[in-house]
Amino acid sequence: MGSVSDTIYALSTGSLPSGIAVIRISGDRAGSIALALSGSLPPERVAKYAILKNSDGRELDRGLVLYFAGRASVTGEDLVELHLHGGRAVVASVMTAIATHPGLRVAEPGEFTRRAFLNGKIDLAAAEGIADLIEAETEAQRRFALANASGQQGKIYGQWRDLLIEARALIEAELDFADEDDIPGSVSDQVWTRVERLKTLIAHQLAGVHRAEIARLGFEIVILGAPNVGKSSLLNALIKRDAAIVSPEAGTTRDLIEVSLDLDGQKIIITDTAGIRETDGIVEQIGIERAKRKAEEADLILYLAPANAQAERYAASDLKHRTIGTMADLYPETGQHFDFHVSSETGEGIDTLLTAIGQIARDAGISHHEILPSRERHVLALRNAHSYLLASLDPIIPLELRAEELRLAAMELGDIIGTTRVDDLLDVIFSRFCIGK
Ligand code: GDP
Repeated sequence: MGSVSDTIYALSTGSLPSGIAVIRISGDRAGSIALALSGSLPPERVAKYAILKNSDGRELDRGLVLYFAGRASVTGEDLVELHLHGGRAVVASVMTAIATHPGLRVAEPGEFTRRAFLNGKIDLAAAEGIADLIEAETEAQRRFALANASGQQGKIYGQWRDLLIEARALIEAELDFADEDDIPGSVSDQVWTRVERLKTLIAHQLAGVHRAEIARLGFEIVILGAPNVGKSSLLNALIKRDAAIVSPEAGTTRDLIEVSLDLDGQKIIITDTAGIRETDGIVEQIGIERAKRKAEEADLILYLAPANAQAERYAASDLKHRTIGTMADLYPETGQHFDFHVSSETGEGIDTLLTAIGQIARDAGISHHEILPSRERHVLALRNAHSYLLASLDPIIPLELRAEELRLAAMELGDIIGTTRVDDLLDVIFSRFCIGK
C-alpha cells in the first residue's frame, strides 16, 4: 500500500474503447495537474470544456475538466475528473502526460474509496455497500447495495454503538457516586431496559442474515427426483436455453449443474442434480449424496415425478419443497395431486411455476427499506455484541463487569462501521474493488 499522502490517478470508467473515459486524480497535486494539462483550473464543481496538452504543448484531447476541492469531493481531498474520448491511445497519452509529474502514482484497487473512508466521508459498511453496488446484477442486489452504500447500515450500527457508550457512562457515573445519597439507583434501571431492547434489535438482525444472503447472493433452488423424470428438461425449460444435458439414459447427470437467472429482479440459482434412486454404482452414489447435501442447504426443492406417478413428498419433508408432476403433455389427466403440473416439451405450466418461484423467492428475501448485515464480518460482530449484551444483563455479576460488557459490545458495533481501523482488514476489503474506484 502506497502512502496516503501521494496524489493518485486512475482510469475510473470501464474497458476501452468507450464513448467517454473518465480519469480521476485525487490528492494535493490534483489541482496543479489539471492546471498543467488544461491551462487553467476550472471553478469548483463546474464542468469546463478544455483542450488538454502535454508539457511540450502538444494537444492530446479535448474534453471536460471538473475540479472538486478538499472536503467537498467524494474522496475528501482535492479531486479532478478528466472526461475524455474513450479511445485507447487518447487515454494512454493523457495517462502518460499525468505520469510525468512528480509525486503521483497510479491508484491501487479501491484506493479512491479507501481514501473516502480514511477521510471520514463514508463508513466501512458503506464502502462495502459500494463494492456490492458495482457488482450488483439484479434489481434486488442493487436495492440492497444502494441502501448500504448510502450509509444506512452505518447509521443504525453507529447509533446503537453511541447508545451503549452512553449507557456505560451512566453506569460508571453511578458507580463513581455510589456512596452519595443523592444519586438515585433508577438510572441503572433505565439503562438496562434500553440494553434489553437493543439486544432484541440485534437478535432481529441476526435472524435476518439469511434473507440478506438471498438478496445479495441469490435464492437457491435444487431440482430433485429419480432418473429420467425430466429434471434436466425442466431446468432447460426454466432457463429457456440449453444449459443442462438432456438425455434419455438413466443416471447420466451425475454432477451438479448450476445455473443462475434473474427472475423479476431476484437472483435465482437453480441446481440440477443426479437422479435419486437405489443404486450400487459408486460414482452414481457420490452424485446422489452430493444432491442430497445440496438439497439440505437449498431455499427450495422442486421434487419431480412423472405426472402419472404418485405425488410423493421428498423424504426430508420438513425442508421447503414443492412437488412437480412432469410430462403433462403425455399425462394430461393425472397431475392434480402435484403442486405443479408441467410439460417441458410444450411449455405448459412453466410460466405458472416461474411466477410461483418468483413469489417464494421474494417472500424469502428482504423487504423494501430493510437494513440487514451484508458481510460475514458484520454477522460475527453482531453475534459477539449480542453475547456481550446478554452477559451485561445478568444482575448477579458486579456492576463494573456489566459496564465492561457494554464497552465490548460497543466496540463490536464500532468494528462494523470501522471506528477502530485495522489495516489488514482494510487491505482485504479494498483490494476487492476494481482499479479506479
Ligand atoms: P432427468 O434424468 O430427470 O434429468 O430427465 P431428462 O430431462 O433427461 O428427461 C428424460 C426423458 O424424458 C428425455 O427423453 C426427455 O426428452 C423426456 N422428457 C422430459 N420432459 C418431458 C416432457 O415434458 N414431455 C415429454 N413428452 N417428454 C419429456
